[in-house]
Amino acid sequence: MASKEEIGMRFVDEFREPELISKTAEEIRRLADRERHYRMMEVCGGHTHAIYRFGLKDILPENIELIHGPGCPVCVLPMGRIDDGLSIAQQPDVIFAAFGDMMRVPGTLGSPLEHKARGMDVRIVYSPSDALKLARLNPDRHVMFFAIGFETTAPSTALTIMRAKAEGLRNFSVFCNHVTIIPAIRAILDSPDMRLDAFIGPGHVSTVIGCRPYEWIAQNERKPIVVSGFEPLDMLQSIVMLLHQLKAGEAKVENQYKRVVPWEGNRAALKAMAEVFELRPYFEWRGLGFISQSALRVNAKYAEWDAEQRFAVPGIRVTDPKAAQCGEVLKGVLKPHQCKLFGRECTPEHPMGALMVSSEGSCAAYYNYEHRKAAMVSLSSMA
Ligand code: SF4
Repeated sequence: MASKEEIGMRFVDEFREPELISKTAEEIRRLADRERHYRMMEVCGGHTHAIYRFGLKDILPENIELIHGPGCPVCVLPMGRIDDGLSIAQQPDVIFAAFGDMMRVPGTLGSPLEHKARGMDVRIVYSPSDALKLARLNPDRHVMFFAIGFETTAPSTALTIMRAKAEGLRNFSVFCNHVTIIPAIRAILDSPDMRLDAFIGPGHVSTVIGCRPYEWIAQNERKPIVVSGFEPLDMLQSIVMLLHQLKAGEAKVENQYKRVVPWEGNRAALKAMAEVFELRPYFEWRGLGFISQSALRVNAKYAEWDAEQRFAVPGIRVTDPKAAQCGEVLKGVLKPHQCKLFGRECTPEHPMGALMVSSEGSCAAYYNYEHRKAAMVSLSSMA
């Protein structure tokens, strides 16, 4: 009998099978109307990464344009929130704990990693419960977890806060930066410079919220949306499904990622979020500005574990450097390489904007796959 690992590997292989990929790409070419230009937004940063990693852009017809959306939580976090979080960590006995992808995100006075080099107690954790463990191990210190992410990661933060309360662990708090995906999509659709035909719906977020919250996009905005997985065949199949809808003049929500995404979402995860969080009246998104009811904060029942209520937070607002065009790239108005700083002042080694930091950021994904590939080709032509 095959081991679990072998079964797992076969499963992934099926979604990367070259013959099926070329058949599906052929179907896309057959379905796409040559007289028409299609603009499809992949909302999720994981999809953006997959598009560049697997070279999907190269096998699609030129008249299908993929627009990268705002679904990378690190990328949409304004610099002021990073400064606010770091300012709490400057207080005596505070340990700043965050996921690894936050560590290189620049704040006004440097990234968390640079603050660590200057002596701040900054720790990388792999989950909120790791941060809680840190609090148990350091009863004389205060551990502040810098929480970030869409509805995908918010439930585990909520469960950790519930756990801290149940254990009576008072040297732990959360600086909450969790955001919600639907208001961001609404802001994109309201943006006057944005013209889209369809959406490739986010796979990870939908495992929690399900497919129902997207119905207004189909019903009110008349845009088809297909919730998609992250393997090459997932994404190509999703494009086929979108093209079928567009060809038939339909607009509906479909679920290509049924093996993971339940239509109604994950009720237990939603319940944990509802128990601990409430919607903020508004929240600033990098590149998109203030969006109402687009982020979560810890509710009064759990105030003791809310870093914003336990500490004085300066509420710093920072404007991005003028030449940085993160906002336009986030809204899909510009491609990453069209930013004036791309590949020169701004690289993954020296990021000027958050889109160059996270592997899900469109600038980093473009740089790591497309830009490096182009550089290799030009070097090999010189040899
Ligand atoms: S290249 Fe850098 S500055 Fe320009 S949009 Fe990307 S992350 Fe922002």
